[in-house]
Amino acid sequence: MPGLVVKILSYNLISCLGSFKSYFWSFVFKTILKILFSLPSFFYNKDLLKLIAWAKKLDRNKRYLSKIEVVERCFKENHPSVQLTKKLLKKSKRCQEKLAINFFYNAVFAGRDRRIKFAQKYNTSSPFFFVISPTMRCNLKCRGCYAGQYKKEDDLPYEVMDRIFKEAKKAGIYFITVSGGEPFIRPDLLKLFKKHNDIYFQVFTNGTLIDEKLAQKIEQLGNIAPVISIEGFESETDFRRGKGVFGKAISAMVNLEKTGTIFGFSTMVTNFNWQIIVNDSFYEFLVKKGCSFGWLFQYIPIGRKPDLSLVLKPERRLAIRDKVREIRNKYPILVCDFWNDGDYVKGCLAGARGDYGYFHINTNGDIEPCVFVHFAQDNIKDIYTRGGHLWDTWNSEFFKEIRAGQPWNLDHRMPCMIIDNPQCLRNLVFNCSLVYPTEKEAKKLVEDEKIVTHLNNYSSNLAQLLKQKN
Ligand code: SF4
Repeated sequence: MPGLVVKILSYNLISCLGSFKSYFWSFVFKTILKILFSLPSFFYNKDLLKLIAWAKKLDRNKRYLSKIEVVERCFKENHPSVQLTKKLLKKSKRCQEKLAINFFYNAVFAGRDRRIKFAQKYNTSSPFFFVISPTMRCNLKCRGCYAGQYKKEDDLPYEVMDRIFKEAKKAGIYFITVSGGEPFIRPDLLKLFKKHNDIYFQVFTNGTLIDEKLAQKIEQLGNIAPVISIEGFESETDFRRGKGVFGKAISAMVNLEKTGTIFGFSTMVTNFNWQIIVNDSFYEFLVKKGCSFGWLFQYIPIGRKPDLSLVLKPERRLAIRDKVREIRNKYPILVCDFWNDGDYVKGCLAGARGDYGYFHINTNGDIEPCVFVHFAQDNIKDIYTRGGHLWDTWNSEFFKEIRAGQPWNLDHRMPCMIIDNPQCLRNLVFNCSLVYPTEKEAKKLVEDEKIVTHLNNYSSNLAQLLKQKN
């Protein structure tokens, strides 16, 4: 008996020391981040260059020399990434702190370790983030909306989302993207963002509901980065989204900028607006409006009335790719090019892939491998009714097959199973017996003759062009 008591006490002591250690390091890390974010003058004088010189001296065996020199060069040349950092340091302190702690510490640094350990313990995958669509209701009716065919009747219940967020954190996920529908149509979401104030939320929105009052609430929470959709300038945006929408989206940017909130833009690139997207004036405008980052998505023929004339021609896709790389070295704004950045993340991220991977929970609770693949094998509400957990869905046959097939192409500039390697998605959907379509027109992507032929031609033309580029 005394032996048992000693064992229990020593076990508790060791686990206490273990959690004290991790608490200690998280405290140290968070404090350093807080100090860095509260000392903007640091970046305006020569102190940082002095620090870099010290770092070079301390790195006696020159292990980090090349990396230190890259940072040094960026500061000396006032590279756009340095200008962007300075810009972020002028934003609201609350938003800076949430970006530093929630995103960089909880999601990126500490989260990675947690995700790996969790995946080992539960024999599952370790996605970095997921997209959740709390509602498909929307106050707009955009042409070619990728989500336009989902049912609008039911929202994802508050309690289900609360449980999903709790389980996500258990699995080390602290970065969540919220899409829709128009998320801000649901006022209860702000309550949920407040409750999970250690998560960083990126919220895709049409911006039309972000008035001064909502912008202030978003800043007060600090852990939300709104991403406002525009399609170019006024004529392109209003053509696709409706008259007056561009003006409202820009008002949202002005309101957010006034409060010091960190926000971005998102644009769907089609054959009709691509010339704007390869023009510097578009990015100069967005920087002026206060955007710190942005997303480019290409139109793909899914959702409301798939329209093949909108699908970007392969040579135009490559023109966008080249332009984005130029913009990153020219303006203080981080532009992410969802399809063309495949070579930065080793290809397709779908199916809850480890590393940077993700999945999508739609408003009905269906677990889709990616926002653009409207097929699923599991539904989170059913899983919860059966007593399961979020991470059970990552081990479905569908998701396992996806991860086994990735990368779909050794050339990561062609990462996608939908548009770059369309035979891969067709094989998956036809061969996984438990897979079902999650909206009424989803099957068109793999069955409609015109769409299938178009995608086959598209992918072989793209491959040809990339070969010539090599
Ligand atoms: S399927 Fe295509 S769109 Fe979806 S994550 Fe993979 S590459 Fe991206």
